[in-house]
Amino acid sequence: KEVIEEVHTQKHLVYQADLEQAIKYTIFHEIPKYNNISGETLLALQRYINVLNKYNPLGNNGRMFLKKLNEYVKTHNHSVKGVDFETQAKLFASEFSPVFESKHYVGCVASKTGLRGFTCSLWKLFHFLTVQDSENDASNDPLEILQAMHGYVKYFFGCTDCSNHFQTMATKRKIWGSTTKDNSVLWLWESHNEVNDRLKGDETEDPEFPKVQFPTKESCPNCYKEPMYLPISNKINWDKTEVIQFLKNIYHPNNISQFGLN
Ligand code: FAD
Repeated sequence: KEVIEEVHTQKHLVYQADLEQAIKYTIFHEIPKYNNISGETLLALQRYINVLNKYNPLGNNGRMFLKKLNEYVKTHNHSVKGVDFETQAKLFASEFSPVFESKHYVGCVASKTGLRGFTCSLWKLFHFLTVQDSENDASNDPLEILQAMHGYVKYFFGCTDCSNHFQTMATKRKIWGSTTKDNSVLWLWESHNEVNDRLKGDETEDPEFPKVQFPTKESCPNCYKEPMYLPISNKINWDKTEVIQFLKNIYHPNNISQFGLN
């Protein structure tokens, strides 16, 4: 209850706890389910851990943990077993303990069991990564994060329906066409809004957190141009320059809330 109240008063805050939970769940639950990780699946794993290591939202211990895990997955050229990956991840986690400072979702809290949680946190993690990448000169590849996300969702995301929908949408919305890092931030934001639109009113919607086009006018009045809806298509008349600024602001490491950490 206390967490739900916090989230309702801080509508667009990003919480460290959710980013941590996403990383924890992918590494200790989803990836280990795979018996033998090889070929394209191994490449997808290496790309995912590599971008986590690069734009790590964890503290100092978490940085060491992901650095070691990144080195570990890179040493495997042919295959790695899911259970071996898990065992190694557990060893690194105890070597650098504590790696995670949260035990629960905060911004991704649900009013009923079975809703929100991990899928919400996975979106947040990938928005975080696209934004960090756009603010960093270390790599010139505008597709690095989207490629890591596409691979993760295709091979490891446990929600098969979500994975299939995402791959279809990625092709339809030309995921590989982003030519700048800002375009990649916007590609993910627009795609997420398309999913929100599709799932509005669906049984998976948490009544306490209805699906809306993000950000709302209340959160970011400048993101909306006049007239608010485009004629004919009736779509929102976004000011994408403002949307980018808004996303860069809420995902800025200094603005990520530490609420709910141990
Ligand atoms: P979520 O949609 O999970 O969003 C999490 C948070 O991100 C929101 O609370 C908000 O703060 C912020 N946000 C919302 N929109 C945006 C945006 N456009 N840009 C930036 N931030 C935003 N579920 C299905 O039932 N069917 C599917 O096909 C399906 N496909 C999915 C594909 C992917 C890749 C993922 C990660 C999830 C998918 N899901 C699907 C799950 C679904 O999208 C939601 O995660 C789930 O319903 C929980 O919704 P939520 O209310 O927590 O908000």
